[in-house]
Amino acid sequence: MSELSTNLIHHPYRAPAGFDAVAPGVHKASTVIFPNVHALRTQEWVDKSGYTYGLHGTPTTFVLEERIATLEGGLHCVLAPSGLSAVSLVDMAFLRQGEELLIPDNAYGPNKSFASGELSAWGITHRFYDAQNPQDLADKIGPSTRLVWLEAPGSITLEYPDLPALVAVVRQANGQRAEGARAVITALDNTWGAGIAFDAFETGVDVSMQALTKYPSGGADVLMGSVVTRDEHLHRQVLMTHMRLGLGVSGNDTELVLRGLPSMALRYQAQDASTRALATWMQSQKGVSQVLHPALKGSPGHDTWLRDAKAAACLFSVVFDERFDATRVDAFCDSLRLFKLGWSWAGPISLCAPYDVSSMRKAPWPHKGGLVRFAVGLEAVADLQGDLTQALDRLNA
Ligand SMILES: *Cc1c(COP(=O)(O)O)cnc(C)c1O
Repeated sequence: MSELSTNLIHHPYRAPAGFDAVAPGVHKASTVIFPNVHALRTQEWVDKSGYTYGLHGTPTTFVLEERIATLEGGLHCVLAPSGLSAVSLVDMAFLRQGEELLIPDNAYGPNKSFASGELSAWGITHRFYDAQNPQDLADKIGPSTRLVWLEAPGSITLEYPDLPALVAVVRQANGQRAEGARAVITALDNTWGAGIAFDAFETGVDVSMQALTKYPSGGADVLMGSVVTRDEHLHRQVLMTHMRLGLGVSGNDTELVLRGLPSMALRYQAQDASTRALATWMQSQKGVSQVLHPALKGSPGHDTWLRDAKAAACLFSVVFDERFDATRVDAFCDSLRLFKLGWSWAGPISLCAPYDVSSMRKAPWPHKGGLVRFAVGLEAVADLQGDLTQALDRLNA
């Protein structure tokens, strides 16, 4: 028996090398085997020349990292277990006690929560700026500012910012810094653009982060995040913090994202078209006060979107007439059948969620009616429109 156990573990057979297939192989490991003590002592992993431990990369994670770096037009990619952990990884890699972080007032909520929770507790301050007003960013950058988050468009309300103008503000501040002072770094949450709507590094940002949970996966069944850089030094800082935090992704999860990638551009395009059709149609419906989507005239930042982007993601938000308060709008969401209630997006299924925007940000929110954010999936547009029609009929009844 003991001999059998040993033989099954230390089996001599090795499959022939050279197997090739469409899907990259899925490698899984905590332990990585070294050929000898010299290799165990000296094997490098930082430059992806080899393997040392599951947390430091496998052939499978290296392949995904290279593909995401290409998607983003960057040089290096580091994978994190969720989009949110990629956000906090960026914060922890670059911020030190006594430094300040600036975040758009309309940023992804949990990004703000990490700043007001952990970062505050660690002596790192933060302030919110109006991403539609580069002068507001210029006014808020101070000598202790170290990191500026950017997001295009804003979360939930989808205001499209002038990224090159915001980056120019940061560059100007860096030009005026005292000698030896740490430069301000810009990090973009590029989950919406996903590497398809616009080129993140063309806008001048230093770091592009994505929730691979959304478009790259496309399946609504896996969580992952990425941090992409073009600068060797910045990459090294992210990689070392990532290593010391012990952030890793599983082979199976990596496989799911690798499987989604080939169809990503087609899905983005299809969902963009469906979303624009529904958002445009929604504008003329009874009970609707405003539809927010960067491709719609009159939506905040529309002109900038037109200038800087060539596509738009699957999100639009609807502000209802002021006679429809939160309770009525909740009932509207409950009456939808194809649009399910849920948070993540860019998967096959359409989603909706009501938001109380005024409680989520510093700047006053001018609308009285409730807001619902829609995420459009891969269903037929006519069916989705039918679903919205029956729910609107009930709302207006
Ligand atoms: C979903 C999302 C994230 C976080 O991704 P998770 O994988 O869900 O943690 C970050 N930013 C934006 C804009 C997102 O939509």
